[in-house]
Amino acid sequence: MDMRAQKVLIVDDEPVNIVIIESAVSSLANVISISNSLEALHLIEIHKPDLIILDISMPKRSGFDICRAVKADMSLRDIPILFVTSFTDSQNERKALELGAIDFIAKPIDIEICRMRVKNHLLIQRQKSQLSIYNERILEEKEQLNITLNAIADGVIATDAEGVVTFINPVAQRLTGFNEFQACGRKVDEIMDLRDATTNAGMINPALYTMKVKRPVSIAFNVKLISKQGKECRVEDTASPILDTQGRVKGSVVVFQDVSESVAMAVQMTHVANHDQLTGLPNRVLLHDKIVQSINRTDKAQHSVALLLIDIDNFKYLNDALGHKVGDSIILSVSKRLQHACGSSATLARVGGDEFACLLTHEDSGLSADEVAMSCLQSAREPIHIDGKHHQLSLSIGISLFPQDAASAEEMMRHSDTAMYRAKATGKDKFSFFSKDLKLAMRKRVETEIKLRTALDNNSLTVFFQPKYDLNLNKVVGAESLVRLIDEDGNITPPDEFIPLSEETGLIHRLGKQVLVKSCEFIAKCVEANELFKIAVNVSAQQIANPYFAKEVEEVIVSTGVDPGLLELEVTESALMADFDQTRNVLLALSSLGLSLALDDFGTGYSSLSYLRQFPLNVLKIDRSFIKDMDTEPQALDIVTAIVRLGSCLNMVLVAEGLETELQFHSLRQLGCEYGQGYYMCKPVSEDEFTERFLNKAPIMT
Ligand code: C2E
Ligand code: CA
Ligand code: CA
Repeated sequence: MDMRAQKVLIVDDEPVNIVIIESAVSSLANVISISNSLEALHLIEIHKPDLIILDISMPKRSGFDICRAVKADMSLRDIPILFVTSFTDSQNERKALELGAIDFIAKPIDIEICRMRVKNHLLIQRQKSQLSIYNERILEEKEQLNITLNAIADGVIATDAEGVVTFINPVAQRLTGFNEFQACGRKVDEIMDLRDATTNAGMINPALYTMKVKRPVSIAFNVKLISKQGKECRVEDTASPILDTQGRVKGSVVVFQDVSESVAMAVQMTHVANHDQLTGLPNRVLLHDKIVQSINRTDKAQHSVALLLIDIDNFKYLNDALGHKVGDSIILSVSKRLQHACGSSATLARVGGDEFACLLTHEDSGLSADEVAMSCLQSAREPIHIDGKHHQLSLSIGISLFPQDAASAEEMMRHSDTAMYRAKATGKDKFSFFSKDLKLAMRKRVETEIKLRTALDNNSLTVFFQPKYDLNLNKVVGAESLVRLIDEDGNITPPDEFIPLSEETGLIHRLGKQVLVKSCEFIAKCVEANELFKIAVNVSAQQIANPYFAKEVEEVIVSTGVDPGLLELEVTESALMADFDQTRNVLLALSSLGLSLALDDFGTGYSSLSYLRQFPLNVLKIDRSFIKDMDTEPQALDIVTAIVRLGSCLNMVLVAEGLETELQFHSLRQLGCEYGQGYYMCKPVSEDEFTERFLNKAPIMT
């Protein structure tokens, strides 16, 4: 209780009365007194006493007048007024009460009675002001609570013990679609239509449930709320019972949130994690899941599953040449065509830059894997138009079947990949099934890779040399280095079986270096034997693409101390089809070292001679496919004739490869081709054999 001292103001024109009353109440409160009734009101305004004791009959201004004035003032009207009167007639009393007085003190004043009266009134007054403070506090708290409930982002609904809504905040009104007036007074499950988000089945309202089990409950999983207007949102809610001190249920409170956005976000996140951004197709992760599911289903159903791995031929080249934007457009348009070709029941996925996969289960469609593959190939053949340009594409497709050739999802992925490479290697624009042969080839590939790595680590690659002849003089003038992989048992693996593999695995750089070093060492050996043989070393496209290649060659030349004029590097047309500037720079750098550059397999590529002329090439090697047929096919002879003429026009040295017959030997000599190599003269031989046959003797044709 407020222990501030209370104030009593006494107004009486008779000082004696003031003294008596003062003596009666001075122990209860601070006393202010005044005998001049004209100044009384002013004093009341200043002191705002807790109680006024007023004499009725006073000169100048009566107690009634003062009472009237006090009651007329908003800030003073609550101050209780006690009249001191000698009139005991009821008329004055009624008037006093009408004016708002609360009690009387009779004259002559009985001090004890006066004190008790005043004491009571002061006590009432004190309780009244205390009450109003409490009231204010409660109002404030209620206001605070309302502001909070209205402002929070959660929906809040309170019910009584019967589940009838007693409160609903604005968020809850918005989510349920019921306003305060519609909601309050109705059963909570009428205004909260909660359902399972998947099955749409109705569910017990958490407000009712929490009262039933008498503990807080939360429903967070897969719940949706349907509003009065039919709008759906995903919600998470918690509900608590309101219990009284005896533990009886008085009602409940439900708090719920709209989680639609976070649910949508979660859905979006899983979509992103499982799909390709560009095409919107499932990615490798999702494809894997789908294969596993199909396989599991198939186990029971005894059906087969086919996986087609689809790769765009030469896409890397297109992408590099035309830019990534065009590359993306191509991918997008291929993905659309494939979707159409594979049919809606197949699963089409994008599993790599230019790789797609199509999963077919037998029950999906009547189409077999080869029919789908065929229609995919067909769909890609139609030219693609981008920015007014036409692009001609083709695909290579590898097919793996479960359970015929693969026992798991991983194996299907691997086998379709192998089969796809087979399709590429055998000419592209075709499909190929993974077969037993391929399985063997795959095993062999793994074994070869191990052998190759071992040979690289042990510096034990072998280089054979095939002599090159001056056709007019019939004399050895040089040789081509041809790498061989020979294991401990003496088994020879030919380069065609490990060069492509070393290119795929990146081992080609180490391989190339080892062959180059051994070839240069061989040059030095020939020089020692007084033979200035020019040795030609094959170089793969990937080596040319390495910007440090010329530097590495220079280092080998320096470290082996050979005359660069005795070294020739053979590059194929495909090596010149990559980045033009970069390739040209490397070739110029090589050329400036003083070695010569030969264009290998000339005639098999697609590049025009005017394109090739921009590179510093010294030698043209006519591919053996033309030489092979020149005896029998007039057209092949025409081509060789043309190449020889072109070569001499361009001041290039001509070398014919793969001479196998005497007729070829003479024809080429007659056409003006200066040099040649081939089984007719000599097969590639080991270094020892070459040394024995060509370094220690006068060169005679075998
Ligand atoms: P290539 O550069 O066209 O090499 C000529 C190939 O023709 C050699 O096969 C050689 O043995 C073969 N040959 C020579 N004369 C005749 C003939 O009269 N008739 C027939 N039918 N064939 C003949 P090889 O040694 O199996 O090499 C195959 C390919 O492997 C080479 O083709 C070359 O592209 C690549 N290669 C070989 N060694 C290396 C190397 O050290 N580095 C790189 N990057 N590639 C190499
Ligand atoms: Ca060659
Ligand atoms: Ca060749």
